[in-house]
Amino acid sequence: MNIMLFGAPGAGKGTQAKFIIDRYGIPQISTGDILRAAVKEGTPMGLEAKQFMEAGKLVPDSTIIGIIKERLSMDDCKKGFILDGFPRTLAQAEALEVLMKEMGIKLDKVISLNVPDELIVGRVTGRRVCKDCGASFHVEFNPSKVEGVCDLCGGELIQRKDDTAETVTKRLSEYHAQTAPLFDFYMERGILADLDGTKDIDEITKEIFNILG
Ligand code: ADP
Ligand code: ADP
Ligand code: ZN
Repeated sequence: MNIMLFGAPGAGKGTQAKFIIDRYGIPQISTGDILRAAVKEGTPMGLEAKQFMEAGKLVPDSTIIGIIKERLSMDDCKKGFILDGFPRTLAQAEALEVLMKEMGIKLDKVISLNVPDELIVGRVTGRRVCKDCGASFHVEFNPSKVEGVCDLCGGELIQRKDDTAETVTKRLSEYHAQTAPLFDFYMERGILADLDGTKDIDEITKEIFNILG
């Protein structure tokens, strides 16, 4: 089963991905997580990407497509995967189609989480993420059991550098200009499920499980 989670920054993609991993045993491929790991390691790719990420801009397509090619060729993707935060431009979506065709696989479902812009700023600025496993929490809407500690792995919870009110506004405008058009792209392919991302986390998880079967 090959799935993609689609939605604005802070729509709840990463949160839902963790539940899908648990139930279906397929890996989450988050280009954001991969880029943050490269930034932390200080690789040449990380150094380049850092400037874009901190400015709330999209990292160039060529870099992202390279990351995805490498990641999808790994063994753990054979049973399926969850794309989280990729593709984000039409060029990325088209490159993905070509790549999957070459691999003899296809995207089965695109789950879109729809959250209005007014709610996004509060979600992103209150987000806390695990330094070790990337799990997402929220100081108000989804607090961890112990403050500052990840429920899943015990790692330390931190605030991402780009999760400020100022940067999120820029990320939202990138989203509307470059990523939102992919909604129609996948709708036309008949694989898009449009969900209300403002519902409770558990409610959304149930709806996703119903769709995936
Ligand atoms: P994304 O991966 O789409 O950027 P996240 O999954 O990290 O988004 O969620 C963004 C923030 O919103 C996190 O702090 C998360 O705990 C919170 N969140 C996720 N889903 C919901 C929801 N349905 N209702 C309220 N808050 C949510
Ligand atoms: P969020 O879901 O909150 O927007 P991500 O972790 O998915 O956060 O992405 C963080 C940043 O990493 C983005 O603002 C962008 O700079 C970069 N990034 C991640 N995925 C992509 C992608 N597919 N294309 C271009 N840039 C990306
Ligand atoms: Zn963790």
